[in-house]
Amino acid sequence: MVKKITKGKKVSKGKKISKGKKAVEKRVKKKKETRQKPSDDPVLREILTRVAGERGYEVAKVLVDEEVTDDEVAKRMGMRVNLVRKILYDLYENRVVSYRRVRDEHSGWYVYYWRIEPERAREYFDNNKRLLLQKLEDRLETERDTMFFNCGNGDPKVSFELAAENDFKCPRCGSKLGPYDNSSVIMALERQIESLRQRLVES
Ligand SMILES: [Zn+2]
Repeated sequence: MVKKITKGKKVSKGKKISKGKKAVEKRVKKKKETRQKPSDDPVLREILTRVAGERGYEVAKVLVDEEVTDDEVAKRMGMRVNLVRKILYDLYENRVVSYRRVRDEHSGWYVYYWRIEPERAREYFDNNKRLLLQKLEDRLETERDTMFFNCGNGDPKVSFELAAENDFKCPRCGSKLGPYDNSSVIMALERQIESLRQRLVES
């Protein structure tokens, strides 16, 4: 792990800097034009996934642009309320979401209204760039080294091992699994890593 960080540093000191810088400048320009929604921002997505897993990201997406109770999140996502709460508290611990507590006059119980804090998520990101870089590099390695399969019905991809265990049927819907081309995932990860390295050089 330590080795990886040093490796990353070396690369960013080399020739790649100028190339990376240009690419970043280009991207920044493009970003201003299109104005990404927070939920579509790949960096924010990575942060949320890192804090609370893929489901954390899905939960956080519900909270973009509106305040929602945990019951409502659970209902919309078809998830158990307890699980939603656990995810929300994970996100809260990392200050990515905040809540407003209101006492229900009839029941006497507190109702929690949750919302996402994109700016805080970014702060968190700034403090954890190096860790995030490491995490992304690990993921890239996995994506490169793993043969993936999926069903094509929108369920998550599975590794060869898991696919073989399940007789090449999707663990979620039971449909036949086919090979999954993850080259776009790899390219996206490479781009993220490059831009993150650049930010580390700048700070
Ligand atoms: Zn499926």
